[in-house]
Amino acid sequence: MREPVPLIAGNWKMNGLASSAAEAKAIAEGIGGTRARVAVCPPAILTHRISEALADSPVIVGGQDAHWDDAGAFTGDISAEMLADAGAKLVILGHSERRQGYRETDEVVRRKVLAALRAGLEPLVCVGETLEEHDAGQAHAVVTRQVRGSLPPELKGTPFAIGYEPVWAIGTGRTPTCGQIEQIHRAIRDTLVDIFGEDGASVPILYGGSVKPSNAAEILHTAEVGGALVGGASLKADEFLEIVRAL
Ligand code: PEP
Repeated sequence: MREPVPLIAGNWKMNGLASSAAEAKAIAEGIGGTRARVAVCPPAILTHRISEALADSPVIVGGQDAHWDDAGAFTGDISAEMLADAGAKLVILGHSERRQGYRETDEVVRRKVLAALRAGLEPLVCVGETLEEHDAGQAHAVVTRQVRGSLPPELKGTPFAIGYEPVWAIGTGRTPTCGQIEQIHRAIRDTLVDIFGEDGASVPILYGGSVKPSNAAEILHTAEVGGALVGGASLKADEFLEIVRAL
């Protein structure tokens, strides 16, 4: 059975300008000999520029979303193929800000995963419960339902990752205890193995939600945590690098 290779991904969200290429370069220069794969996910319009800035580095560039169709009359949207053409290697799909702000269902996320596969992008599929669901003791049920609903069987044998991001922990400074993180990650692992057999054991399961330099080591060393999806703390190279080094 293959151990998951950890992945630490920075989600810049709607932040960054052309000048952010310097920040990306600083990340590439600082990652040293980490055993993690490191990714930065800038806004789509910066994909090409950041890919060029990282051309000779091991840092991967990712998108933050992609349409489920390959091309067509979808004003304002970006296809997975366009991201790949601009240099992206992976794409975040089903982030809670898409699920909540754009009413993306598991079915929509599943179709987007298929589009990513057609374009040769590695999907990083996000799941996570809201505060209401957390307080009602439904985290386990919600997250495993999202995993089953968002992952098509076509993923078997192809690289992909899961991001467990409790919605109430994103950008709030609040995090679950490491025990709670471990419990949900184990439930996700069991679900992955149930769906994909032994292949499910080597899928990295990232934790996301208020990861910062001060809590990164504890979270990254929690059982079943295979890396981190980092929002706010990924915008400054030095903070992001502290998180990478905490592994
Ligand atoms: C995110 O939105 O993916 C995220 C984890 O944000 P933050 O680290 O800012 O909580």
